[in-house]
Amino acid sequence: MKAEKQLSPVTELDGKKRPLIAIAASFLFVVCISLVAVQGWSIYSARETQLAQSAASTANMARALADHADSTIELVDTILAGVVESVEHDGITHYGERLHLHLIDHVSRTPSLQGMYIYDAKGNWALHSLRDPVPVFNNADREYFIYHKTHKDKLAHVGAPVRSRSTDTWVLPVSRRLENKDGSFAGVALATIQLSFFRTFYDSFDIGNYGTITLSTDTGALVMRRPFQQEQMGRSIATEPLFKQWRERGTLGSAAVPVDMDAAERMYTYRNLRRYPLFVAVGLSTDETLANWWANAYLSTAWVVILLLILCWMGLRLFRQVTLRDELEEQLRNAQLALVTKNRSLKLLARNDGLTGIANRRLFDARLDAEFNRATRDGTSLALVLLDVDFFKKYNDHYGHPAGDACLQFIGQCIRTGRRRAGNLAARVGGEEFAILLPNTDLYGAIVVAEAVRRSIVTAGREHAANPAGIVTISCGVHALVPSRDMDSKQLVEAADKALYLAKSTGRNRVCPDAPAASSRRERASVLGD
Ligand code: GH3
Ligand code: MG
Ligand code: MG
Repeated sequence: MKAEKQLSPVTELDGKKRPLIAIAASFLFVVCISLVAVQGWSIYSARETQLAQSAASTANMARALADHADSTIELVDTILAGVVESVEHDGITHYGERLHLHLIDHVSRTPSLQGMYIYDAKGNWALHSLRDPVPVFNNADREYFIYHKTHKDKLAHVGAPVRSRSTDTWVLPVSRRLENKDGSFAGVALATIQLSFFRTFYDSFDIGNYGTITLSTDTGALVMRRPFQQEQMGRSIATEPLFKQWRERGTLGSAAVPVDMDAAERMYTYRNLRRYPLFVAVGLSTDETLANWWANAYLSTAWVVILLLILCWMGLRLFRQVTLRDELEEQLRNAQLALVTKNRSLKLLARNDGLTGIANRRLFDARLDAEFNRATRDGTSLALVLLDVDFFKKYNDHYGHPAGDACLQFIGQCIRTGRRRAGNLAARVGGEEFAILLPNTDLYGAIVVAEAVRRSIVTAGREHAANPAGIVTISCGVHALVPSRDMDSKQLVEAADKALYLAKSTGRNRVCPDAPAASSRRERASVLGD
């Protein structure tokens, strides 16, 4: 029972045990998913930040370049306005040589200026800023000349880039109308900005290997583009997606579009010039912009993958350990159960007789002492019946030893049934000798019990050919006493044994009390037998 009690905490703990593998697997799953989610989010936000920084940087550059183009044209236009005022006021012929020198001076002091020219109403060169004499050209066919001839406004006109007839270089024409005093068309004053001026400036910016800077008129005439390509000069970009987007979205904006010159996708910011009908577009290659981001994303993802692999590996090890532990627990539990069963049967063996199942000699001795002491303390009567099978040797000889064993089992069964009260102890104390210990029982009561057992055996009528009675019988010796402190339990056994001897010697198959003890009592009369 103790061993069983020791088991119960294990069973209780078993009940509280949670499925560890399921908990660990869920935890691991949540950790892995969180890692992947955090990594995904951080990669995404890093990409957004990188693109935002790039957009800010192209926007700043576009503003700077637009301001630069604006002030370049404005400076040239201011000079041009002065020249127009001078020509209209004084006339060309009157101050011809002085104005020529004036124009030369302007051009030499203004790096962006390629030249300055005055045309008469027919388009012939009237004055220019060139030092050496040059053949006289007629520019009546130029777009700016036709414009001023047909438009009365006196504002500056920025035309599409043209190849200069005098220097054979690409220039941006800025022109104003000249009028006679009566308001009639008197010619055109022209200042040309050399496009190489813009090119030099644009080359000074760091826009990566695939970045572009574009300066174009609002009609799509390309003024300058970095990277510079000679064959691109003077061409129209009106059909390019970039130009179309600029047209659609207004004066300021950004777009991720490919351009005609290559297939690389770029992030563009375009911006109008404040005063003149041109716009600037700055584009940074998306691949170049995100190159660092890609490198970091690959590196951090590799770390996360390594971390995930380590986590999974550790998880697998944990699962294996938990499984192993469960198996060990199961084995331990089985071993514990086996031990308890073994203990129980060992205890039974230690206390019970193997053949008949009733108490053995060891238990009988222990109980005899205990009951003797208790009876001494309580002053109660303790009785003992000793039972012996009659002619049992002969039974063995006649029917064989196994049959003898079966007969002993039968006797044991009869004694167990006949012991009456639960407190009475039936025991096998020798080969074919039995005892019934009867606490709180006097001699008479013990005789009644013994007699009942004897009768039940006789009534069973088990054949015993070597017994004169023809059946199995027993003889019983009975004794009872109220023990005192100076007495010993052996005295009770010896007296019962004496009584048994008496029963044997007086014919067997009977119940005899110890003669002296019974002589003075009514029990003497109860010496029984058939
Ligand atoms: P009595 O009537 O005087 O008691 O004669 P008896 O033959 O019964 O007495 P005895 O003491 O001479 O013989 C006892 C026999 O009991 C001897 C032995 O063979 C037999 N015996 C003892 N233990 C066992 C046992 O466990 N099994 C079997 N089959 N026989 C046993
Ligand atoms: Mg005997
Ligand atoms: Mg016998």
